[in-house]
Parts: sequence; structure tokens; C-alpha cells
Amino acid sequence: MNCHRAEKLISRLVDGRLEAGTAAGLEEHLKVCPACAQLRVDYRKMKSLMSDLRFPETEPLPYFEQRLRARLKAESRPSLWAVVERWYAAAVPVFLVVAMILVGILFLAQPAEVQLSQSEMLLFQEQSSLTEARAIFDAQKPEDRQLQLLFAGLDSQEAVRRGKQ
Ligand SMILES: [Zn+2]
Repeated sequence: MNCHRAEKLISRLVDGRLEAGTAAGLEEHLKVCPACAQLRVDYRKMKSLMSDLRFPETEPLPYFEQRLRARLKAESRPSLWAVVERWYAAAVPVFLVVAMILVGILFLAQPAEVQLSQSEMLLFQEQSSLTEARAIFDAQKPEDRQLQLLFAGLDSQEAVRRGKQ
């Protein structure tokens, strides 16, 4: 047996995966070849080191599963502060969106409402009939309302003028 073949077989010998005949031949070479004998020593060291390292990973620690479950249970039961914190984190964006919508509504609604209330006051001061005013309030579009209010104002002014004549 030469060194090249011996090197290939040493790992199988140490692992106990070498058939008896080949193992005997390798043992003969290792007796006379210090380099290959040293290789077997090194391989044995490496193997024991690897098994030492692998042991904690493959074998779970005692009560590992129980401790894991207890840990998960504890984490799934949130503390009061965690609940408040989570609610707050969710509430802030919602509050901002609601506030923005409210501000938007106020900005959009305010000018039309102010104009309308002034016109309405004029209308009431001129004592137009209540049904006419109701129809104007029921009009959906602000433009329509303005037009109706304008015409109602002209009509009532004319009525006043006619009354004076
Ligand atoms: Zn050798």
C-alpha cells in the first residue's frame, strides 16, 4: 500500500467503515509510515473535536421544550404597558388621519356656510315665505342655492317695491 491510497482510507478506518482485509493492509502501512500514522492521529483528534462540538446542537438541553413553551406563553401574555403601547402606536396614525379629515371638512364647509348664512339672514329679514326658503335649503348644490337665493332676493325686493307703489 502506498501513501496516496492510505490517505484516502484513513478516515474510513477511524470511522470503522473499512472492510477487514483493506484495514489489515492499511494497518501494515501505518506501522512503517510515520506520516500516515500521524495522519490517523490527527484524524482521530479532529473526529472527537467535531463530535464534541456537534453534541449540544443535536441533543436538546434537558427540559428544553418545556422551557421554550413557558417562554412563549409568557411572551404571548402581554403586560398592560405593552397593550397601552400597542394601542398608542395604532391610535396615533388613526388620530392624525381623522384630524386631517376633520380639518379638511372644516376648510371646505366653512366659506359656503358663511356665505349661505348671510344670504339666509337677508332672506329672512325680507320675510320671504317659509316654503320658498325650505326649497332653497333643500337644494343640494351650493351654486344652485346661491342662484335661488339671488332670485328669491330679487323677487322679494320687487314685491316690496310693488307693495310701496
Ligand atoms: Zn504512508
